[in-house]
Amino acid sequence: MELTGWVKNYEWGRRGINSAVAQLAMANDPDFRLNEEEPYAEMWMGTHVCGVSVVKETGETLDRVLKKDLSYLFKVLSINKALSIQVHPNKCEAERLHKERPEIYKDPNHKPELAIALTPFLALVGFLPASDIRDYIDEFQPLSKLIGAEAVDQLHESPDGQSVKLCYEKLMKTEESVIAKCINEIAKNYQKELKSNDLLEVFTKINQDFPGDVGVLSLFFLNLIRLKPGQAIYLGANEIHAYLDGDCIECMACSDNVIRAGLTPKYKDVDQLLNSVIFDSAENEHKTFIPYRIDEQVQVYIPPVSDFAVISVNIDHSLESYKLAIQAFGSILIVLKGSRTLKLKTQQGDKEIVLTRGSIVYIPVEAAPEIEFAQAEDCDEDFTGYIATSNYFRVP
Ligand SMILES: [Zn+2]
Repeated sequence: MELTGWVKNYEWGRRGINSAVAQLAMANDPDFRLNEEEPYAEMWMGTHVCGVSVVKETGETLDRVLKKDLSYLFKVLSINKALSIQVHPNKCEAERLHKERPEIYKDPNHKPELAIALTPFLALVGFLPASDIRDYIDEFQPLSKLIGAEAVDQLHESPDGQSVKLCYEKLMKTEESVIAKCINEIAKNYQKELKSNDLLEVFTKINQDFPGDVGVLSLFFLNLIRLKPGQAIYLGANEIHAYLDGDCIECMACSDNVIRAGLTPKYKDVDQLLNSVIFDSAENEHKTFIPYRIDEQVQVYIPPVSDFAVISVNIDHSLESYKLAIQAFGSILIVLKGSRTLKLKTQQGDKEIVLTRGSIVYIPVEAAPEIEFAQAEDCDEDFTGYIATSNYFRVP
């Protein structure tokens, strides 16, 4: 079944034709009308009620045709300005929050997520090692003043998760006007220090987009990660993060459950975030998520949850045919580049679909054990596609 994704026009998205989401939506759907002024932030592919995919041939929604929900939600993101500082609750907490405050926490499911960069990609992920945070606080005096002697002393005495927690709570609970003053002082008097820490550009950009927001100062607490295309990050329950810039493929458990605390016009729940968040810290290099290589064409990103996995497929244009064998399908494919003829088994017999950039296809369970990507006519471009599926992979 060929599908049309659901486009979300959140404020932080890239605008007009600059957005990868808009480009893919136009390539997918001839009826898509582009507005150059409008942001195109996300494309959703799956059965989530807030953005269910539509079957092209019949106009029916995917959940109605499948008569069930998929365990995963698949997305393309195109980011112009920071997404909120957030964590996603674990399953148990998600159920409780949904029960107690369904108007804010609309979803009872957990939301572990995986992001794979399509362009150079910038994100804040998890806390820095406590000693790095201590060094920043020492270097940027207005921040040290804001956090106060008691917490700063404790961070010096025992640089660990507990003292990071104390300092970060102090920051998050400081009055807005004091935060704004601190940011202004740093912006005015600490250009050289920001530059030597490789933070100047990001600090300035976030402060422009969200003037005086506590999220700007989170730069001194969180790991700033720069991904190259193909590199990925995985975010488990209660791991603090904020995506800042770039395009990515994202896959997650079928959920929309977010606890926000900064860089957003949406509702902030600082107390809940501080309650949930894990204060463990790690070195930057441990943060990228390494995929498992199957062969020259295929890699699989296998997270430690059963809800989803992502397969990346790259096929050289000269290769006549590539057969992808996996145990079960029930997956969604999106094509980013090139053209191929997809050959697969369905309940109605053998089927062929011509894939081009923007194609989104639901591959049914009965397509197992293999699908074929055959050379398409007159295509001298290499093929790139991503497939989201339930996670039944075991790393050998
Ligand atoms: Zn998230």
